[in-house]
Amino acid sequence: MTIATAPRPTDHDAPTSFALTEDQRLLKEEVRRFAEERIRPGVAERDRNHAFPRQVIAEMGELGLLGMMVAEAYGGAGYDTLSYLLAVEEIARVCPSTAVTMSVTNSVCCWPIERFGSEELKRRVLPELASGRAIGGFGLTEPEAGSDAGAMKSVARRDGDAWVINGEKAWITNAGEGRYFVVLARTDPEAGKRGVSAFVVPSDAPGFSVGTAEEKLGLKASCTAPLYFQDCRVPAANLLGEEGQGFKIALATLDHSRLGIAAQAVGIHQRALELAVAYAKERVQFGVPIARHQAIQFKIAETSTELAAARVLTYHGALAGDRGDRAAGRLASQAKLYASEAANRAVWEALQIHGGNGFCEDYEIARLYRDVRVTTIYEGTSEMQRLVAARHLLRG
Ligand SMILES: Cc1cc2nc3c(=O)[nH]c(=O)nc-3n(C[C@H](O)[C@H](O)[C@H](O)COP(=O)(O)OP(=O)(O)OC[C@H]3O[C@@H](n4cnc5c(N)ncnc54)[C@H](O)[C@@H]3O)c2cc1C
Repeated sequence: MTIATAPRPTDHDAPTSFALTEDQRLLKEEVRRFAEERIRPGVAERDRNHAFPRQVIAEMGELGLLGMMVAEAYGGAGYDTLSYLLAVEEIARVCPSTAVTMSVTNSVCCWPIERFGSEELKRRVLPELASGRAIGGFGLTEPEAGSDAGAMKSVARRDGDAWVINGEKAWITNAGEGRYFVVLARTDPEAGKRGVSAFVVPSDAPGFSVGTAEEKLGLKASCTAPLYFQDCRVPAANLLGEEGQGFKIALATLDHSRLGIAAQAVGIHQRALELAVAYAKERVQFGVPIARHQAIQFKIAETSTELAAARVLTYHGALAGDRGDRAAGRLASQAKLYASEAANRAVWEALQIHGGNGFCEDYEIARLYRDVRVTTIYEGTSEMQRLVAARHLLRG
């Protein structure tokens, strides 16, 4: 099965017309064209060789895809959240590894810096990130603090006009490639979550180092590794918000950024459906294309229905967030929960439709099967999304 025999990309996109402006529609088309022409050709090889897509990322930076929501005053493209999600979806449809590099730079690095950084910090850091000359990361998770991020052990103390950070972060996307990391550490170990602060740590800060990259199941063209801080000094001006506000900053960031993971899942789901339909029409068993068997038709209908639902939830979360809706955090959690689980089901069914061929790396669905798995885990597991949603709903 080659891309040439896959259905036209727009065949299964409904309802992408949902609330899209003309500019958003054009952006989506343009990013799809870029992804097909510039990302698709090397995607299988980069996956096989665990090769980070440096050239592609540089081109995405030039197109404004790495600082999409950053204001133009700081070198960004000034897009709204929905436009950003449309772009993530289109990149993920072709390469989920590239999509996570992109979404982490946009949403867990640029986003909190723009909201909580000082004017000086924003002018110093954001133009580099938004142009793709630098990529970004986010260091919250630690070996003993995953879902329970409040259990983090990393510490930071003030020393003159610097902060000195000691500790370790685990599973950090873009580690080894990133230039700036938003890092959380305790500045008052007695004050629980109110004693956590957020810092921007450049990769050339003294005392900063990157560990061995993880051998992951999927997303093999993205890099994930631990970060180490040994008396790591960063300027006092690299603090985000005020001392003690770090945990709130991290939660606010994730409330917004998990929509990016929902969009990544929607992009993968979209591609799984396209591949399933194309294969079902081509593969003949019992004298007819398998698409003529009702069992296969039901899988395709179900996958398409869930895709439409995931997409609407995700876009709805974006509009709610940009409106400042109080339910935005819950909607983002629900979108991430539903879209990631639906995408996992979609890829599972699409692979089933491929039969034995689906189990073979020659077929794109095998890579998607590996790549989709993590969407229910990072930026908060499905279990944590359910907890967040329930807490909102049961409040008061
Ligand atoms: C590829 C990849 C990239 C990542 N990138 C980043 C990054 O850039 N920055 C970063 O900071 N982190 C990153 N992470 C870390 C990711 O966010 C964590 O893996 C995730 O939050 C889960 O934490 P954990 O792995 O420690 O699992 P745990 O917290 O140990 O959870 C294990 C299981 O227990 C469940 N569980 C835990 N607590 C509860 C509870 N109270 N109720 C019910 N169930 C519960 C979980 O849902 C899960 O099923 C990345 C992870 C991966 C795999």
